[in-house]
Amino acid sequence: MGIIALALLAGCSSRSKKTMDSEKNYPALNVQNMDTTINPGDDFYDYVNGNWIKNHPVPADKNSISAFDELAERNREEIKGIVEEAAADKNAEPGSAAQKIGTFYNTGMDTVSIEKEGTTPVDKYLAMIDAIKNISDLQSVAALFQTFHAGPFFYLFSNQDSKNSASVIAGCYQAGLGLPDRDYYFNNDGPTKKLREEYVAHLEKMFELLKDSPVVAKENAQTVMKIETELAKASFTRVENQDPQKTYNKFDIAGLNSLAPNIGWEAYFTRTGYPDIKEVNIYQPSFFKELSKMMKTVSINDWKTFLRWHFINAAAPYLSQDFVKENFDFYGNKLSGQEEMKPRWKRVLDETSADLGELIGQLYVKKYFPPEAKKRMTEMVMNLKKSLRQRIENLTWMGPKTKEEAVAKLDKMGVKVGYPDKWRDYSGLEITYQPYVLNVLNAQNFDFRYSMDKIGKPVDPTEWGMTPQTVNAYYNPNRNEIVFPAGILQPPFFNMNADDAVNYGAIGMVIGHEMTHGFDNMGRQFDKNGNLRDWWTKEDSRAFEEHTKMLVDQYNKYKVLDSTYVNGQLTLGENIADLGGITVALNAYKLSREGKEPPKPIDGFTDLQRFFLSYAQIWRMNMRDKELRRRVKTDEHSPAKIRINGVVYNVPDFYKAFPQVKPGDKLYRPADERPVIW
Ligand SMILES: [Zn+2]
Repeated sequence: MGIIALALLAGCSSRSKKTMDSEKNYPALNVQNMDTTINPGDDFYDYVNGNWIKNHPVPADKNSISAFDELAERNREEIKGIVEEAAADKNAEPGSAAQKIGTFYNTGMDTVSIEKEGTTPVDKYLAMIDAIKNISDLQSVAALFQTFHAGPFFYLFSNQDSKNSASVIAGCYQAGLGLPDRDYYFNNDGPTKKLREEYVAHLEKMFELLKDSPVVAKENAQTVMKIETELAKASFTRVENQDPQKTYNKFDIAGLNSLAPNIGWEAYFTRTGYPDIKEVNIYQPSFFKELSKMMKTVSINDWKTFLRWHFINAAAPYLSQDFVKENFDFYGNKLSGQEEMKPRWKRVLDETSADLGELIGQLYVKKYFPPEAKKRMTEMVMNLKKSLRQRIENLTWMGPKTKEEAVAKLDKMGVKVGYPDKWRDYSGLEITYQPYVLNVLNAQNFDFRYSMDKIGKPVDPTEWGMTPQTVNAYYNPNRNEIVFPAGILQPPFFNMNADDAVNYGAIGMVIGHEMTHGFDNMGRQFDKNGNLRDWWTKEDSRAFEEHTKMLVDQYNKYKVLDSTYVNGQLTLGENIADLGGITVALNAYKLSREGKEPPKPIDGFTDLQRFFLSYAQIWRMNMRDKELRRRVKTDEHSPAKIRINGVVYNVPDFYKAFPQVKPGDKLYRPADERPVIW
């Protein structure tokens, strides 16, 4: 559960790597991608990416295409090499990395066995649901399913205690919805209403695949929809879930039993294998209260139906083709607009890379991550830190007392680059030649235990929240650290052969973005030690809120599709990080140029121009409308185009770089309407 990590982009499922060859040939900036017929003051994003956008329609097996995606594809090819080598090794020692990776992948590619087996590998779990007689049976089965991430009611995991970051406690987080957000159950715009109908039809089909008669399948679909709608009503909104105070509610067992008396907490924890849990953070108390009530008001038969759906939904992508196809038809096609499934090898490879992440990561960095990249990246991070420090010291809206705390927090911010110093131990994970779905469930169980085993133990400072091959980055507020996996340290984000302006506009901005998360509307509530503690004076808090309110209002006005607008509050943290990221990176670039001659223009563009071109270029993207709608509801990041246009017109140096941008241009913004936050 990436609940508290603030990532650079959503869906950290893209996995990556690097060849020195592809890097050598990668242009610092590709001016062919630009559409210079567009006035940069009217639409900077289209000015930089217009030709690329025209020439890169979304492929049938994707819901978007982007610079991230291009890099992820190059990475995937490299991971494929690693995995296929393991898969071909017939003599791999049992329990070795090669044996685990190879066997996992081979069982996923063994479609003959998978088709022949149908649901047989999971029949024992379906039989457990059938045998449920009462609420305590129901909770026992749900708890068991929890141990392989198929728990239908809520997520159970461990996390650092937000008010005592040195200790690790259990957390319970709302779940139980088959649609991606509570809003899908209530919004009454045309596309959402249609999607609800399609969801019910999907539920029906899944029950038919489980051999229910059409009449029963129809009733069952309605039952699930009814239960999920009630759970959705009690669920926190995404904006509420961003509030670290509101989601901090520590309970002991007696407290849990009075908050939600019908959950059977002790028996539940015992069944998951963790009977000694004493303290739990309940992220959404109202949800658990309602769930507890529903334990009495919903019939056992209806709960069994709900459980069957959630179990089969979790298993479907790893079963026979009829399940895989129906699952894709709703979640891939109807929800996101993807026309075709990704080829099987990609799906299995991505699953292998996710479930055996650091096993593959070790081989990946050995082969593809050059030590000089780590060195250069670490230097850049230090420059960015110096830059942000200077920005904080010079802020006019913040007083000296708060500044002192802010600088202390920045100084203490940890930095991880490339890959972990200590690798995760996979010796407890057994992968055998058994049905693929069982290997996946087994890996998920390993992951569940890995998280839960941390409770009550000291925090491991070497641990990473993303695999090294991931094309992404994050800030973790409980640890006050920024992390950059090897996967993102490649072109176009990080290009060893590009001019500094281009690198500062790309990876420099990424570094600044992650750093700023320590000081966005959520991050600022944590102190230098990762504790939720208010270190702000009242006046400075008020000033921060006034400035960020300007951003909320600006983003609320960006239209995405017909009647769909950006949610300025949901995306606020990311928008602050984008604006802070570009500002801090630009200042760092200027610091790096002090006492040097200005570089000569390249391809007719000054270094300052190239900085902004580089920034806009890394966010080039085409996305299907359906996926865009889904993102606006669920993603705390603004759509790509707005991550550029929402930012540059707020940056004074942008107008210096492009003096042709003038009042009267479509997106020109007068100086007094440009917020200065960091
Ligand atoms: Zn971010």
